[in-house]
Amino acid sequence: MPLPTLDPADPLGLESLLADEVRAVRDTVRRYLDDHVEPHIADWFEAGELPTLPELARELGRIGLLGMHLDGYGCAGMSALAYGVACRELEATDSGLRSFVSVQGSLAMYAIHRFGSEEQKQQWLPAMAAGEAIGCFGLTEPDHGSDPAAMATRARREGSDWVLDGRKMWITNGSVAAVAVVWARTEEGVRGFVVPTGTPGFSAPEIRHKLSLRASVTSELVLDGVRLPDSARLPHADGVGAPLTCLNEARYGIVWGVTGAARSAWRTAAGYAAQREQFGRPVAGFQLTQQKLVDMALELHKATMTALRLADLKDSPEGVHPAQISFGKLNNVREALEICRTARTVLGANGISLEYPVIRHMVNLESVLTYEGTSEMHTLALGQALTGLPAFR
Ligand code: FAD
Repeated sequence: MPLPTLDPADPLGLESLLADEVRAVRDTVRRYLDDHVEPHIADWFEAGELPTLPELARELGRIGLLGMHLDGYGCAGMSALAYGVACRELEATDSGLRSFVSVQGSLAMYAIHRFGSEEQKQQWLPAMAAGEAIGCFGLTEPDHGSDPAAMATRARREGSDWVLDGRKMWITNGSVAAVAVVWARTEEGVRGFVVPTGTPGFSAPEIRHKLSLRASVTSELVLDGVRLPDSARLPHADGVGAPLTCLNEARYGIVWGVTGAARSAWRTAAGYAAQREQFGRPVAGFQLTQQKLVDMALELHKATMTALRLADLKDSPEGVHPAQISFGKLNNVREALEICRTARTVLGANGISLEYPVIRHMVNLESVLTYEGTSEMHTLALGQALTGLPAFR
């Protein structure tokens, strides 16, 4: 009997586990990115901008990527698996692009979809799904990152209104957003507010000088006496658990997304090593290089299996436990970053050039390691789940 075929890019044949409609999503996203984004992304990264953002947002909306795992209100209502596979393609192009889609769909839209009033959903979700309105999610503050429960931003009642004061930091999409979901402390505990960014007292200066996620807009949010009607409060969000639920959604997309960045790095390294000759032979023929390529492939496909398992859990009636998401976020980001670092060495000096995507992915993943819960926070979350003992304080 002949041996079954083996695809070096997919040695375990994991792509064959995807249903036709999921492969169709994968291929549609890839085609769009290959045609419209790949030719420009290194330049955008170098310039530190996403110059086509309003049009790009509408295009991503047109192909159904914004809030694609949400139901109704113009959202595509796809499975968690299809959403994950789309995130993988986006991040194979650039983590900044996946961050844009994650923040729009899994943070800003999800918060309104899950915790909003019917009026808020009708007002914002169809426009956000279409990419006509960009959203951001303001939780982190200058002095409160890993411990958002200690946030200093305040919302106080004045008559039937709310008045918000405070600052948020490191907010993706902040200065291009039409709407900000802002979390603030009230006398009753943490609450969420849907803030149109044109409201007097709201401003969002962009954060410059980043050496990571350069093709992504990151901003500060300044709330200086921002007055809102009570109808701007998310009525079903009660306590700091609400924003953490949103973060869990976005982390799921990261579990998948980073396998895209790692895949891009692995393919680049494997292709380069096959072509590049030293000492009279391709560097891929040296045992040391093969060890790198093999170790990278092991971790890449193990990470993909983790993502596939989490997709199954997320699509099941029981759902997925937050500690299982921590498992995936911690493992997959850590391994993707290590894969990119190793791939960079395979490219030698070319590894530090933007001519190749590897170092761009590598420095992007430094942000991904930190945001949506640092690797330390996910270690502690998993540590607590495995031992029953919290070690956060
Ligand atoms: P800190 O919380 O100050 O942590 C510093 C270090 O101490 C870390 O290594 C941390 O793991 C460690 N540490 C803290 N507490 C403990 C402990 N108990 N035990 C052990 N170690 C500990 N936030 C948003 O709200 N919205 C966004 O859209 C958003 N986008 C972002 C985009 C980018 C590019 C970046 C870089 C960040 C973004 N963030 C966003 C913020 C991000 O979520 C925070 O940076 C993250 O939560 C960590 O907070 P911090 O940077 O304040 O670090």
